[in-house]
Amino acid sequence: MTAIRRTKILATLGPATQSPAVLDAMFEAGMNVVRLNFSHGDPSAHIGLANLVRERAKVCNKPVGILADLQGPKIRIARFKDDKVNLTESDYFTLDANLDTNAGDQQQVGIDYKALPEDVAAGDTLLLDDGRIVLMVDKVEGSRITTQVVFGGELSNNKGINRQGGGLSAAALTDKDKQDIITAAKMEADYLAVSFPRSADDIHEARRLLQEAGGHAAIVAKIERAEAVDAIEEIITAADAIMVARGDLGVEMGDAALPPIQKRIISMARRMNRITITATQMMESMIHNPIPTRAEVFDVANAVLDGTDAVMLSGETAVGKNPIKTIAAVHRICLQAEQEREIRVSRHRIDSHFELMDEAIAMGAMYLANHLNVKAIAALTESGATTLWMSRISSGIPIFAMTPHTHTARRVTLYRGVYPILFPRPHDDHATLNRAMIDELERRGVVSKGDIVIITKGDLEVAGSTNALKLVQVGSMIEPQQIN
Ligand code: PGA
Ligand code: MN
Repeated sequence: MTAIRRTKILATLGPATQSPAVLDAMFEAGMNVVRLNFSHGDPSAHIGLANLVRERAKVCNKPVGILADLQGPKIRIARFKDDKVNLTESDYFTLDANLDTNAGDQQQVGIDYKALPEDVAAGDTLLLDDGRIVLMVDKVEGSRITTQVVFGGELSNNKGINRQGGGLSAAALTDKDKQDIITAAKMEADYLAVSFPRSADDIHEARRLLQEAGGHAAIVAKIERAEAVDAIEEIITAADAIMVARGDLGVEMGDAALPPIQKRIISMARRMNRITITATQMMESMIHNPIPTRAEVFDVANAVLDGTDAVMLSGETAVGKNPIKTIAAVHRICLQAEQEREIRVSRHRIDSHFELMDEAIAMGAMYLANHLNVKAIAALTESGATTLWMSRISSGIPIFAMTPHTHTARRVTLYRGVYPILFPRPHDDHATLNRAMIDELERRGVVSKGDIVIITKGDLEVAGSTNALKLVQVGSMIEPQQIN
């Protein structure tokens, strides 16, 4: 059996990737989870695309998770009479909350976030268009923020605004986001990403609204504000997964701050049993080119070495010229980075005391997996929690989440080293059950005669009941009648 990639590939869909043929090729190349970006498109288009994705996943026989990503309170300038202007260094330029939406010109432009003048002061640095344009605030008078251009260039309609160091007070969930949460619930999204959260409260509110709408998605907190970095521990606690959203975060914190922050967030989230996604510009040059730069190869590999669960592609797959080649490149880079010996051993939680029985079983399984020549772990799981704990431990052993539940199978698509298998649990004695689990792995070609497999399962078919850990050797299992 060739090695199975452990790191998951999360690809944003867009104009370049909406046809059945392209989606099939993306699954074939290794896509595990898709991101539907709610910054573009309307609810019916998102629901239509989610249906198409699940249909193609079924045809291709690939499990897929769906992540719905809320737009959030991205602060933007309004529009120009002529769609764009060219700003020159040291010129004065005004952002005016009262200016007509389409009335922008060489001297001034409107802003959609009317409270911006209250959030900024003379001396602040504003970054427009992901930092390509830099403005220094000269003075604020009523609705008008007068600035002097530090870095000029072309500025076109609706470009984003960030303040260096953060501190803009816009609430994380806009009215549009609240509507979009209902759409996410309707499409039964597996993950819901909250953009620009400031604190744990923003995550709790999103979860409450999602539950009210009948949704069961896991919540992803996108870390893309300076405040979120300050409140990182409470945000990780409140969320199920964390996205290192390097685009906006880099603008607020400065690009050089990103590498240490990425390493710190990933390691902290893993320690706290949360999932991590590393996002933005990972394969940026492949939007136009058929191969990545060396720097991009290192970026993806380094995220793998940091311990990320998933690598995210944005423009590369949404609008790029080479979506399939990009996924294939990420696949081979992850696979090779994962061979690095150093990341396969773990001292994680070596001194911990466990409160829960199923958690202790999961940790025991990983201790065995890393100290015996084990081929695979087969975890019979209801909620997938056992496999989440297992996957927080570094290891090279594949973890098969065998579950009767579609929602659990979809959820674990994002977990590093975890592979879902839909497995209706036979109502039978344990020996027969063990055999059925091993048969399923043999049928899939992931284990063969002589291999040692770790099985974990519970006596009851309810979440949290995992209480058994068993070592079996394929081909020499004890017959059902000899054991109970
Ligand atoms: P976005 O978030 O792609 O929704 O902007 C990711 C980021 O800011 O890096
Ligand atoms: Mn962002």
